[in-house]
Amino acid sequence: MKLLFEISKDGHGCDLLPALDVPEVTLPGNMRRGIPLPLPQLSEIELSRHYTRLMKRTFGVNSGFYPLGSCTMKYNPRINEDMAALPGFCDIHPLQPEHTVQGCMEVLSETEKALCEITGMDAVSFQPAAGAHGELLGVLLIKAYHESRGDAKRTKIIIPDAAHGTNPASAVMGGFTVVNIPSGPEGCVDVEKLREVAGEDTAGLMLTNPNTLGLFDKNILEITKIIHNAGGLNYYDGANLNPVMGIVRPGDMGFDVVHLNIHKTFSTPHGGGGPGSGPVGCKAILRDFLPVYQVAEKNGTYTFSDPPETIGSVKAFYGHFLVVVKALTYIRTLGAEGLRCAATHAVLNANYMRKKLSEYYDMATEGLCMHEFVITLRQVKEKTGVTALDVAKTLLENGIHPPTMYFPLIVPEALMVEPTETESKETMDEAIEVFRKIYDEIQTAPERLHEMPLTTPIRRPDEVGAARNPRLKYSEE
Ligand SMILES: *Cc1c(COP(=O)(O)O)cnc(C)c1O
Repeated sequence: MKLLFEISKDGHGCDLLPALDVPEVTLPGNMRRGIPLPLPQLSEIELSRHYTRLMKRTFGVNSGFYPLGSCTMKYNPRINEDMAALPGFCDIHPLQPEHTVQGCMEVLSETEKALCEITGMDAVSFQPAAGAHGELLGVLLIKAYHESRGDAKRTKIIIPDAAHGTNPASAVMGGFTVVNIPSGPEGCVDVEKLREVAGEDTAGLMLTNPNTLGLFDKNILEITKIIHNAGGLNYYDGANLNPVMGIVRPGDMGFDVVHLNIHKTFSTPHGGGGPGSGPVGCKAILRDFLPVYQVAEKNGTYTFSDPPETIGSVKAFYGHFLVVVKALTYIRTLGAEGLRCAATHAVLNANYMRKKLSEYYDMATEGLCMHEFVITLRQVKEKTGVTALDVAKTLLENGIHPPTMYFPLIVPEALMVEPTETESKETMDEAIEVFRKIYDEIQTAPERLHEMPLTTPIRRPDEVGAARNPRLKYSEE
């Protein structure tokens, strides 16, 4: 496909700038550009077709079923976008005087209250731009806490082997060493092992519950207590909050700090669909270390205030504000009862698919799951040579986005399926039928699956090549 610069043609462009509403100033020659800005020249319809073409080549939650485990690809309601597009929210500047943006500050304050209520925390920072970024902030808060107490020996963070890869990465970026603990036979934290490793050098624990196998750890109160007794703090990776929101709260499970992936749980777009947001909530003991730009309210007036022992800034101003507007819209639209209902339906949908698919595929764990489940193709691969990648590619050929592959790392040939609550029974039944057909093909013509997909714009990219020799810069040659 051609780039905008390649379809550009002199004279096709058109600039429509708003009328000048400030005095005209002529910049001195040394501040002006020597050559015109090389912007592509296109008419509106050319531009529109270009992006429509691009859109057709990709797969989004609006193209079809997208059961990408751990990522909670739920539908993003249009009303969220309508609210974020209101001029009072989007035509503002971060340096505007506070009295001119009281409504926006109220949004931050209201969202903070709602997220505190949902998580059982006492304060929230909206600065982090995504979950992984929130993890880093959380780890820095844990560090600031121990440092403020002169407790320099706490250099280690304990992380179970089922964790998302960002957890150990964030702990290391925060200056800690990681202690990995294996999962027990049922896929949850091995409590005895945890007891062995927790000690005077423990800064904290990072955990997601339900975990990446889709299991709720029943020993959670004991786990967080072991860490507290050792003098450490508990970090909750909130990426998997969807099945438990409105039902249990990380704060009540013994966690001191959490991040939420607003672009997962609270229906704002992921990645290319718009910037993410990974607010961090914490208990009162960590509040004084939060980043700058915390909103305070007094007699109905909002002000920004910097926490007394703030770690500083992890992002400009108060993070991705419009994403927060979308999340608050979602929370307000559903209300407390609606959020709870979304959570229970997410669990119901996952168990429906799990049960149906277990007629054909091996599951990584036994029994009921929460919002997601993990298929293992270990035996299929041994018997037929068909891999998780082959099945994922065949799903794509059938108009379904593949589940998360090869994660969690502790499950061989893993496919992690998360339907989410926004899918109907009919959509899930269609997907189950595709999975069944693929199962038949594995038995009858396994070699065909290595060729998939046949009709997508890109079939099997050279992933190793792309990682080793990434071509990140456009060159006209
Ligand atoms: C998605 C995810 C993260 C990271 O969040 P991003 O917003 O993608 O940075 C962390 N932990 C788990 C379990 C996740 O699923």
